[in-house]
Amino acid sequence: MSADTSYLAGQWAQVRDRVDAACRAVGRDPAEVDILPVSKTFGVDLVRAAVGLGLHRFGENKVQEIREKAPPLADCGIEWVVIGHLQTNKAKDVARLASEVQSLDRLELAEALHRRLRHEGRAIDVLVQVKTSPEPGKFGLPPAQLPGFLDLLRGYDSLRVRGLMTMATHSSDPAEVRACFRLLRELRDQGMAQGHDLEKLSMGMSGDYPLAIAEGATELRLGTAIFGRRDVTPG
Ligand SMILES: *Cc1c(COP(=O)(O)O)cnc(C)c1O
Repeated sequence: MSADTSYLAGQWAQVRDRVDAACRAVGRDPAEVDILPVSKTFGVDLVRAAVGLGLHRFGENKVQEIREKAPPLADCGIEWVVIGHLQTNKAKDVARLASEVQSLDRLELAEALHRRLRHEGRAIDVLVQVKTSPEPGKFGLPPAQLPGFLDLLRGYDSLRVRGLMTMATHSSDPAEVRACFRLLRELRDQGMAQGHDLEKLSMGMSGDYPLAIAEGATELRLGTAIFGRRDVTPG
């Protein structure tokens, strides 16, 4: 084992144990909660080491980084998941390289992705990112617009809507953080009642995932907890 691999193997086992314990603490089956490793800012060697542990889906918040990492890792069978704010002019690269987009937050983007995906003859999974905190500068669809948006998405058959995603507020008050996760779950339940297939709830990061688990997360997006601290501030 390389140094990278043994370090990561330890981190990964510890994170999975903690997630499992957090599930059991609230009476949930750990098998219901997936972890999406977030590899942003980490190099191809570390991602390759993670592939060696059996991980094959990775979250990135910049399409440019997927463009750089995908070619040298082409032999790894990686599924790249876009989790960051997405400009419409990146739709072409996303359609070519990504297996899933969790940051779908506006119709203009859905249209651009659909056009490019049709061109590629592909369909991808998408989650709708919802703005669950009042903080300015956070991306996502306003909750009130979600029902109408979900209805409109039925018109794009290259976008398979699987659920919802959010980033909680940056607060030291767990009740405020938890309220964001609870809102996403309630919106999911309402959407399901409307007839939409929204089984996935992508919520919870390294600093707040136990609260997300308590509110029903089905996928945690974990970077720091697995790969360590990032030197570069994420954009
Ligand atoms: C970076 C990032 C994460 C992971 O953050 P950590 O705190 O390192 O776990 C999750 N979601 C999004 C959208 C991110 O950009």
